[in-house]
Amino acid sequence: MRLSEHPPIIVLDGPAGAGKSSVAREAARRLGLPFLDTGAIYRAITHVMLSKDIPPSDSPELRAALAEFTISFRGGRVFACGEDVTEIIRTPAIERHVSPYSALPAVRESLLDIQRGQRTQGLVAEGRDMGTVVFPDADVKIFLTASPEERAARRHAERLAKGEESNYDDILRQVKARDEMDTNRAVAPLKRAEDAVFIDSTGLSFEAVVSRVMEEAAKVLTPKS
Ligand code: C5P
Repeated sequence: MRLSEHPPIIVLDGPAGAGKSSVAREAARRLGLPFLDTGAIYRAITHVMLSKDIPPSDSPELRAALAEFTISFRGGRVFACGEDVTEIIRTPAIERHVSPYSALPAVRESLLDIQRGQRTQGLVAEGRDMGTVVFPDADVKIFLTASPEERAARRHAERLAKGEESNYDDILRQVKARDEMDTNRAVAPLKRAEDAVFIDSTGLSFEAVVSRVMEEAAKVLTPKS
């Protein structure tokens, strides 16, 4: 039985390419809850900063851009400051630059309210610090990971399926570099919350991972008779 009265909050954290997005999106669909992709918010901030030529360090320009930053999710699309950024935030250029911006305390601080503001109807959220910093009171916390090689192989296959150019070795290098930066940054590093359920999806099918998440959700969301 859930002890709290708030709408259900289910969070998934983990490294790049562990499958958090697709698993969290599917769990949200099955549970009838909104889905929050916080990586998209950090990617959108990165796009805005790059387009204004603002480097990843604390500065009056960076703070001014953060104060003006808005994001909305409508009809499966992402809008940053009114611009549709759905496709551009998935490009390798953004992927290369997102970690340094995400490591800045000013950036993380300004995004806290934006993320927490999405919780009114309950949600399934995924990111790096959902269970540790943004929603420490979440009802279900999952830490989802997979080996770097498997994560790189999945990204590589995704890109090829979209008809994009892709190089497995480059992707593996980038996956490892992002892990390193996201894990070792001073503020809100990627780390498993003490009360998070650990799922290693290496060798598991998508359905198997979603089922594990649904099992955990059922433990706390279904009233026991
Ligand atoms: O999950 P995704 O690959 O879209 O995240 C992109 C980047 O955004 C991550 O590598 C990380 O630097 C940053 N991020 C973060 N905190 C989150 C979500 C994403 O720092 N909650």
